Amino acid sequence: MDLLPSHNSPVLVDYISANISRFGLSSPTAFSSSLLLSSPNLGNLDDVIVTGLHDYVTASSSPTVKLNNDSAFEFDETENTYRKWMLKYPSAISSFEKITNHANNKRIALFLDYDGTLSPIVNDPDCAFMSNAMRSTVKHVAEYFPTAIISGRSRDKVYNFVGLTELYYAGSHGMDIMGPVNKSKFVNDHPNCIRSTDKQGKEVNMFQPASKFLPMINEIFISLNENTKGINGAKVENNKFCVSVHYRLVDRKNWPIVSQIVLDILKEYPDLKLTHGRKVLEIRPIIDWNKGKAVQFLLESLELSNADDVLPIYIGDDRTDEDAFKLLREGNRGYGILVSSIPKESNAFYSLRDPSEVMYFLKSLVKWKSST
Ligand SMILES: [Mg+2]
Repeated sequence: MDLLPSHNSPVLVDYISANISRFGLSSPTAFSSSLLLSSPNLGNLDDVIVTGLHDYVTASSSPTVKLNNDSAFEFDETENTYRKWMLKYPSAISSFEKITNHANNKRIALFLDYDGTLSPIVNDPDCAFMSNAMRSTVKHVAEYFPTAIISGRSRDKVYNFVGLTELYYAGSHGMDIMGPVNKSKFVNDHPNCIRSTDKQGKEVNMFQPASKFLPMINEIFISLNENTKGINGAKVENNKFCVSVHYRLVDRKNWPIVSQIVLDILKEYPDLKLTHGRKVLEIRPIIDWNKGKAVQFLLESLELSNADDVLPIYIGDDRTDEDAFKLLREGNRGYGILVSSIPKESNAFYSLRDPSEVMYFLKSLVKWKSST
């Protein structure tokens, strides 16, 4: 294979997670899960971002630890830890033959997260553009395999980023799906499924299980916007059926203020819950729906469900992608591939380090399929 991405610089890491890992505190996943609020929507303030900050600040203040903004721990140490972790989550690139052996005589269905998977994580969420090379790769891959993007962004926004009409799109963490029209009873009988047309005028099925929350989401978006206006760097994003509060550009000393504002506002909305992503707090409806269910819905929509000859592959870097990894792992149905440059527990089978490796993997799939 050619085009193997090179990694001659220290891995890029989420700042907190990296240092948590470095200090031998809880694993990044354990750290993350402590930040995840389940229903009821509000726990103690300590349950959310402040816990992480407290741990982080405590670790940072240790005299034995030297921190700088490059999250610099020794490259060798990082690599060793990463390689050990890869024994459990092997690279999808080095395991490519194993994957394609399993895929022989099967139809692959591809599910791709967007941020951190197809595009790099950037400071300004409005500028998370994918490269032309990645766009071209995704376009090629969709010629061979049914391909869907499942993102936390609004469906329109992620479509604008990707710009490919060949794909299926699910926005708002799977709460806004546009899929093909078919005869599936599961899809057509679903109360939240309506017939519509896409931008090209083609008939499609729209599935929006959280549609009744739309006014509430708009209301909390306005409120969050108003209340975070004075915090330099804070950005509130309306993702249609969920709202994101980005704090990547907020001065670290103001992070607890951001979280407190979010928690205070959320107290007024018992039907909404808070989760924590990569430097982002996400507010969404408490409904029994997630990216795993979105994958199931799309498989049904594509008439690829309950078929032994279908191999779904899901590639993502988010905590919310774990629901999809779990769905595929539990039924032994397909492969989850976690995109991560740091070790973390996952329901995925394989790993890829970053979007450049995702692109290489997708190109390899095209090359394999076109030669068989
Ligand atoms: Mg992502």
